[in-house]
Parts: sequence; structure tokens; C-alpha cells
Amino acid sequence: MNERDSEIMSQALAMSGYVESMDIEDADLVILNTCSIRAKAEQKVMSLLGMLRKVKKSRKGMQICVAGCVAQQEGERLVEKMPHIDLVVGTQNIYNIGDLLEKARVSPGYIAIGMEDEYAIPRFMPNESEDSSKASAERDVPTTFRKFVTIMQGCNNYCAYCVVPYTRGREVSRKVSDIIDEVKAVVASGVKEITLLGQNVNSYGRTNIVTDNGLPYTFSDLLHAVSKIPGVARLRFTTSNPKDLSDELMKCFKDIPNLCPQFHLPVQAGSDAVLKKMNRKYSVEQYLELVDTLRSYCPDIALSTDIIVGFPGETDEDFQGTMEMLERVRYHGSFSFKYSDRPGTRSSDFEDKVPEDVKTTRLIQFQARQDEISLEQNRKYVGQIKEIMIEAITDEGVKGRTSSNHIVHVNEESTAIPGDFIRVEIYHAGQHSLKGKLIQE
Ligand code: SAH
Ligand code: SF4
Repeated sequence: MNERDSEIMSQALAMSGYVESMDIEDADLVILNTCSIRAKAEQKVMSLLGMLRKVKKSRKGMQICVAGCVAQQEGERLVEKMPHIDLVVGTQNIYNIGDLLEKARVSPGYIAIGMEDEYAIPRFMPNESEDSSKASAERDVPTTFRKFVTIMQGCNNYCAYCVVPYTRGREVSRKVSDIIDEVKAVVASGVKEITLLGQNVNSYGRTNIVTDNGLPYTFSDLLHAVSKIPGVARLRFTTSNPKDLSDELMKCFKDIPNLCPQFHLPVQAGSDAVLKKMNRKYSVEQYLELVDTLRSYCPDIALSTDIIVGFPGETDEDFQGTMEMLERVRYHGSFSFKYSDRPGTRSSDFEDKVPEDVKTTRLIQFQARQDEISLEQNRKYVGQIKEIMIEAITDEGVKGRTSSNHIVHVNEESTAIPGDFIRVEIYHAGQHSLKGKLIQE
């Protein structure tokens, strides 16, 4: 999400004539695009801002802008704490960052964090006008062949621990035609892999009308439509809340050939009591049924998840449930976090907080077992032939990605360049990547 927002800001700035600087020391503008999902990310922003105060002193006219979720939540408080900030721009205000920076020139410390009631995601397109197409032409030469396309923003779920509904506002789905137009434009610029992006893509089209004729339209409909756009070689999406995962959507993995066999399905915890307190609205058994169904449609699907350890009230037994989840699902990989209190969330008021050292022990135990399982899962690929899309040239050869989202290193001379598809035979598996050798066709 933040990565896509950074792209949007950099496109908007390119249209206003800005060029990217490689070094903070000679930048006229520094934007910190911040995340407040966990306390650690927020602390990093504060220390970076401290460092920037010194840089700004020695560089006349430099502007410092804070964007993203910390900006949205902290607003004026940020400028009070750090008066050298020129602009605070909220999650829904990034589209006109160029104008806002001009305003901040006149009144430094400018705050733009309004969330409009009738907010609709602006129709941001890479080449909207003659002028902008000139400005962005150079930038559109793809440095990556994979792009995110936002399909919705905000979230109405209010999981007890989560700050997103407060920092990104209510859930709004983008119009189908706007999404299709953007995918077409992105593909025309050379991109081959599209990831549809939203906090809970499964509920796409449920909170507002997304079609011109007013008819209902689901996320599965969107997947089918996007998959048919010529040039979309690979299609992915993220993220999904299990509570809204329909059979129709799971079946897409069987029916859509260019939908990659990979699914990120955050479970958060393996105990019904904890899931209930988290307000996740599914049980362990329901989640496992979804996994079975997914595998019945797509036996090779690579599953990954998000886990929170040490949610308030989590007992040893609850945590064992989470460990068991690993054994039962055998995820290819996971993102795991220690629970962290976020301002304004319901769980920050819960009293039965788990001590820090217990959270740390649980996290280490979880990650160690996940690493073993990832390795076991990856070893299954050894001996298999896979198609990879090249992402980078490395010192040893090239690096690419399988449709199951595994990185493959090919350590031999090849004429392949980023964006090419080549076939390799996997001969080695590590926890986080694979090694393959070229197949001579
Ligand atoms: N919309 C996605 C999640 C977005 S946030 C979903 O519903 O699955 C990404 C991940 O950050 C979450 O899945 C969760 O595991 C983690 N996270 C969110 N808030 C957290 C908190 N307060 N403490 C620790 N981890 C948190
Ligand atoms: Fe946060 Fe829950 Fe919404 Fe995901 S679904 S963004 S975890 S509130």
C-alpha cells in the first residue's frame, strides 16, 4: 500500500517537474512516507526526522514532508514536535502533493489531512494529459515489470488491534472502468505482472457501486476482467480477509490461467478465543476449511499468512494453537509480529497485556518453526521445471520469480534481461529462495 502511494507521489511530482535525487544531502525535497501499523515503524520516522533537522539547517530552501499513516494520525502534533517539517500530507491527500508543497512554501508547517465524506479515489493515470505525458515519459520506461494497481482504499473491518480504519478511512472501491484503464496503461508501458491492491480485496464492490450500469460486481468478476487484458502475463492480488473469501473467488485459481498460484491469507492467530477478541469474524475450523477448498481448486497453491503473537490475553495454550496452525497449513512463508498497542484501537484499552519477554519468546519460536517449514516446502520444488520472470541481473547471473512467488537465482551466463520469461530447473532450495539452472530450449 505504502509502496504504491510512494509511486503515486513520485509520478505526481514528476508531472510538476521534480526529478529524483540519489542523495538526501543534495535533495530540495525529502518525503517520509510513513507507516503506523506497529510502534516500531513510527519510532523510525521520529529518529529520521531528527536526523533531517541537521541536514535542513545546512541546506537553504529544503522542504521536508511527512506523508502516510503517521501523518494522518498525528497531523498538527507532528509539527509541534518537529517544527522543521514543511508539510504533513494525509493518506487521501497525496494526489495533489505538488500543489500542497507550493502552499507549504508560503506557510511552512502546512497540514493537509482532511478525509472528505464523499471521497472517491481520484482517477490517477500515468499519462493523463499531453504535458504530463511528456514529463513522465522517461519515468514510464519500466525499471520493474511488476506493478501494483490500487482497487480500493480504506477498511471498514475494525479488527481490534488495527489502526488502518483510522488512518486510511472508510472502505471505497474504485470504478471497474478506471481500474481496467489503468491496467491497460500500465501494461502498455511494458509491465507484465499486475498485483491488485487493497486492504481487503474480497469485499471489492460491496460498499459502493463500481459499474456504470449500477449492477453488482464482485472481486472475482474483476479478476476475470483484468486477466483477459492482453499483456497481463501474471496476475496477483493482496490482501484478503478470510471472513469474506467466497467460493467464487477461490475457484478463480482453477479457472484463470494467468492468476498466479499464490495466496496471502492472513490468519493472525490460531485460537478461537483470540480471533474473537480480535474481531476477525472467522474460526480456526472455518479458516482450515478455506485452505482445503483452495487446495482442491489449485493443489500447488503457495500459501502465506500474517501472524500476531502476544495479543492481549493470549495464553500459552492460545499460542500453541497458532503453532498448530503452522503444522496444519504448512505455509510457504509468513509475516509475524509482536502485538503492538496502536493509538485509538480497541485492544489498546484491553487490560490483560502480554509481557514483552513472553511476546519475544513466542515470536522466536514461531519464526524458527516457520523457517523449517518454508525450507521443507521449498525443497519440494527441487527437480521441477519452472518458468521465471527475470527481475534483475546479478553479479553471478540473473534473478527471477516463479508464479508461486518464489525468488530463483540463476548463477550462470545468460542473454535474458529483466522482463524476460525463461525456464529453469530448480536444483537447490533455501528458506527464502531457490536456485535454478537454465534449460537449453
Ligand atoms: N488488511 C490486512 C492487513 C493489513 S496490516 C488483513 O486484514 O489481513 C498488515 C499486518 O500487520 C496485519 O495482518 C497484522 O498481522 C499486522 N498488524 C496490524 N496491526 C498490528 C498491531 N497493532 N500489532 C502487531 N501487528 C499488527
Ligand atoms: Fe486492519 Fe482488519 Fe482492516 Fe486488515 S481487515 S486493514 S487487519 S482492520
